[in-house]
Amino acid sequence: MSEICVVGSINMDIVTSVDEYPKRGQTVFGNKVSNSAGGKGANQAISCSRQGKKVSLIGCVGNDYYGEKLIDNLKRNRVDTSTIKRDGVESTGQTTILLDNQAENTIIYVEGANKALDEKYVLDTLSTLTDCKILLIQMEIPSNTVLEVMKYAKQHQIFVILDPAPANAVTDEMLTYADVILPNAHETELLTGITIIDEKTARQAATIFLEKGVSQGVLKLGKEGSYVFIENKITFIEGIKVGAVDTVGAGDCFAGALASALIDRQQLLAAVEFANIAAALKVTKHGAQEGIPTIEEIKSFCH
Ligand code: ADP
Repeated sequence: MSEICVVGSINMDIVTSVDEYPKRGQTVFGNKVSNSAGGKGANQAISCSRQGKKVSLIGCVGNDYYGEKLIDNLKRNRVDTSTIKRDGVESTGQTTILLDNQAENTIIYVEGANKALDEKYVLDTLSTLTDCKILLIQMEIPSNTVLEVMKYAKQHQIFVILDPAPANAVTDEMLTYADVILPNAHETELLTGITIIDEKTARQAATIFLEKGVSQGVLKLGKEGSYVFIENKITFIEGIKVGAVDTVGAGDCFAGALASALIDRQQLLAAVEFANIAAALKVTKHGAQEGIPTIEEIKSFCH
């Protein structure tokens, strides 16, 4: 039975490279198209399973070809998919990305079935996962579902990790149910109004989170590393210097690795050190999911 439950989005990302974007009504030839599995929920669940953890993903896909493919992909990655809802009305969540020859992205995101992940389904399903000790959740699903599942977890002594991305739907009430929050620089700015440039500003942001009822958090700063706050104590964890080739999904890899280390009863600071290595190894490889390192790769990096 799973000790970690991830509640979140499942998407298919379709990337088409073009020389020039088409104008309205125009047809142009594209150069290449590639599909890759994504969605924060799916990425984070795979990060947990690569660390050898039993993990269930509560999410929703459509009754369609991409939904089938995405579930197969999760199964191959040893994620429990018995908790995934199939919606008969909405299509599977999809991101269409146009990549032009200047490496500029234009993105259309259709939430689709992720919108159909209702609170009743999630609560009923979570109540069957009686071994669950950690809930890992993000904001790419309906905000009411996020709020209710966090509340339920707190009532049932499940430790709650909130990755507040995207941050615009996060409410102060949600923050009161989070045990640990993992905002990146942009999300910290949106939620606290503080731009982190040094320890002083990190302390100011942490103070605002503390006032909002979150007692622990990791303020992620990309390659710089992160500031960890535990009540009033702030610690800087330096980023690991690597040759980065693709930072997409770094935060998802980080979140899954952090939850995995916490399940192993590591203290938060040690868990952040571990997640920092996992995410640094991820950015050296392409792909939000394919690039996530296994526990063996992390251990061999540490030796
Ligand atoms: P998000 O992906 O959620 O936007 P960040 O960009 O802050 O969050 O990255 C999350 C974590 O990934 C960082 O805290 C760090 O551990 C790691 N990371 C990201 N970019 C790099 C990089 N270029 N080099 C090394 N580690 C990185």
